[in-house]
Amino acid sequence: MPYAEVSVNSPIPAQQTFTYRIPPGLKVEVGHGVYVPFGKRTLQGVVLAVTEIPAFADTRDIESVIEEMPLLLPHQIPLVRWIADYYLAALYDCASLMLPPAFSRKPLVFLSAAEASDRIRLSERQAAALNILREKGRLEVRELSRALGLRRLEGLVESLLQKGLVERSYELARPRVGAKTVPHLRLLMSPLDAVERIKAEARQPKQRERLEAAVAAASESRDGLPLPVLRSQVGLTREQARWLCDRGVAALEVVPSFRDPLAGKAYEPREPPLLTASQEQAYERIGAALARSGADRAEAFLLHGVTGSGKTEVYLQALAKAVELGGKAIVLVPEISLTAQTVRRFAERFPGRVAVMHSGLSLGEHFDVWQNVREGRYDVVIGPRSAIFAPQPDLSLIIVDEEHEWTYKQEEMTPRYDARLVAAKLSELAGAALVMGSATPSVESYYHATAGRYRLLELPFRVQPTAVGIKEAPLPAVEVVDLREELRAGNRGSFSRRLLKALDSVLSAGEQAILFLNRRGSAAFAQCRDCGYVPACSRCAVSLSYHSSDSAAPRLLCHHCNRSLALPPVCPRCGGPRLRLLGSGTERIEAEVRSHFPGVRTLRWDRDTARRPSDHERILSGFLAHEADVLVGTQMLAKGLDMPRVTLVGIVSADIALHLPDFRASERTFQVLEQVAGRAGRGERPGRVVVQTYSPDHPAIAAAANHDYARLYQQEVRLRERLRYPPFGRLVRLTLLHGGQSSAEEEALKRTAYLKEECLRQGLPDLDILGPAPGSPPRLRGRWRWNITLRGREPAALLRQTRLPQGWQVDVDPGSLL
Ligand code: ADP
Ligand code: ZN
Repeated sequence: MPYAEVSVNSPIPAQQTFTYRIPPGLKVEVGHGVYVPFGKRTLQGVVLAVTEIPAFADTRDIESVIEEMPLLLPHQIPLVRWIADYYLAALYDCASLMLPPAFSRKPLVFLSAAEASDRIRLSERQAAALNILREKGRLEVRELSRALGLRRLEGLVESLLQKGLVERSYELARPRVGAKTVPHLRLLMSPLDAVERIKAEARQPKQRERLEAAVAAASESRDGLPLPVLRSQVGLTREQARWLCDRGVAALEVVPSFRDPLAGKAYEPREPPLLTASQEQAYERIGAALARSGADRAEAFLLHGVTGSGKTEVYLQALAKAVELGGKAIVLVPEISLTAQTVRRFAERFPGRVAVMHSGLSLGEHFDVWQNVREGRYDVVIGPRSAIFAPQPDLSLIIVDEEHEWTYKQEEMTPRYDARLVAAKLSELAGAALVMGSATPSVESYYHATAGRYRLLELPFRVQPTAVGIKEAPLPAVEVVDLREELRAGNRGSFSRRLLKALDSVLSAGEQAILFLNRRGSAAFAQCRDCGYVPACSRCAVSLSYHSSDSAAPRLLCHHCNRSLALPPVCPRCGGPRLRLLGSGTERIEAEVRSHFPGVRTLRWDRDTARRPSDHERILSGFLAHEADVLVGTQMLAKGLDMPRVTLVGIVSADIALHLPDFRASERTFQVLEQVAGRAGRGERPGRVVVQTYSPDHPAIAAAANHDYARLYQQEVRLRERLRYPPFGRLVRLTLLHGGQSSAEEEALKRTAYLKEECLRQGLPDLDILGPAPGSPPRLRGRWRWNITLRGREPAALLRQTRLPQGWQVDVDPGSLL
């Protein structure tokens, strides 16, 4: 008798599966969605294993199978288990990442099996509700109330539940927004025969012409053409379509209209260019992996290519190779709305073969895409981090573009997975090659590349278009301006004299400039205006955050270990009197540009001007069309955009991200500077970059000034090794969110003490428990935040043995410790 291990959508998150018996006659496979009894309810679940021997003697029967086709692909089953284990998350939450969209929890009510209402006295309403359920089967409470014409009927449902007449379940419901359909005209005979028939039977020359044109158009596609298309292309009316059908020439078929987000945009197929020597080398290596099969294909590559070196072209040709060999691919990009340019390049190279998954899709649209992908209709699925869970069959290639981007980490909800790590695991499980590309790889990935876990591929030069073709060219020159000297010279504005001069010459040459200001991070920090010194915590190697309140004197606080000290009255390094907070916004910068250059056309690109996804596209295409001379923006500018008319990039302040109280501050500063600088000089004219800073000697800035990734990497790796930060140790951040200020602190302290004790008891000597320290910001949406950081070789081990009370969130491999 076979049994199934089922991950159940139970209200209590569980890390294990439950065993159910497969009743005779029911065909249950691994990956199937099923209904199972759970306590008094029927819940939905996913079958993760089928066995001959039950884990428990006393098992109940699976009630039914939700859909004949398994919902999970075979390689997704171990992936679910791995995510649950690694990220300490509930199994079902991990499975639901891969289930069709809208398979969410919606309470459904249905008649209970033992329903015997004739023996119970019912109110009129109760009887009416039962009648509806008898007729319609399972309904959402909302639908039942609509059918009854009532607003709320929780009470009514409760009373029926208590009487045992109905049951409630959380079902995997298909979205009500069913797939839209469109009538398609499909030929039933050869075009030649069709034309013969038309010639014989159609009288009017005008009508004949139109019918023939429709036949010619429809003959191009085996599935026929949508009527609306035929109407707009050849003016075919519904009557004429019917005329064709009546004579057996064609048939009208109802086809689900897959609402492709790329639809309505015409993409001309593009021929791939010849690769440069370095591109060719990278491509050959990837191609060799693709030509292997199974586990041998699961090779991981880190494509380290400077900005504009043609990484995207390597991805495109690798994809073509994968498709040629019969495989399919998943491509991850940091954020669809910011990377529309890249998405379009894929769509142009593979017309009609690219599915885009993004947050702008409606539930119904998302569902359509999911189904179509599962049916193998697309060679390439492209999307943000969640696209890694797309049900792409025959997966042979995974690409992660801009690998260093932190949007790949889910931080909002559990499981807090990192799509890059999941991609690496998926590559192993599915036997797919993995290519991660960046101009500024994350320290962890580069470390893995040097340690042999990934294979390093380098594109050291830019692809420079010239009148006669392309050549490999160097990166734009970077000039560093020391803002302390500007102050000394009496310049208190946001722009140094050097940047103003550069702007002037760019504007008079009719070229474009970008001004970048990183306002990210709300944690303020103190800095000496004279020497640039930023007070830092000696134990954690992060800068101290500035805190002030009405009741207490301003203090500096470490957000890792909670060490605090009074704000020094003078700079501890140079004795200067001007230790103060720093800050300036893009809005002010834009205004300053205008006052310096009357008549200049500016655009601003930040969270205030781009609230909706479509705003990004509008701002960017406006700038590309040269509707503005200067673009002022935040780190959105750092997303791999290709803007050939830009010859100057001004970094107004390089310092803000640098002093975020986080151990990744240097790495991120380098990444953002290098990426923004990489927007300059991508066209035929050379580019120039001006970096303004109070810390010209800071290693991250010095490295960016020389486009010297290796230098940044060496520094970071040394620091991380000493402090046992990733990749030399692992981190887990525990965050408490709590409404009461003092009880939050109390619980944080208590939990820390408990964890330390547990740590000793379980004999985990290499585990550090840091904190508790207030989050940054310490209060978020009315709740107080406290962090405990675990650092060690296997910090998650402690938590596998220890239950955390409600209110605590677990983040394995957090992006920051704030
Ligand atoms: P990256 O992704 O590394 O920033 P891109 O792939 O965007 O670089 O390439 C930069 C520019 O060079 C793009 O306009 C691209 O079309 C062009 N390009 C890249 N490789 C080639 C090539 N082999 N031949 C011609 N143009 C190329
Ligand atoms: Zn500290």
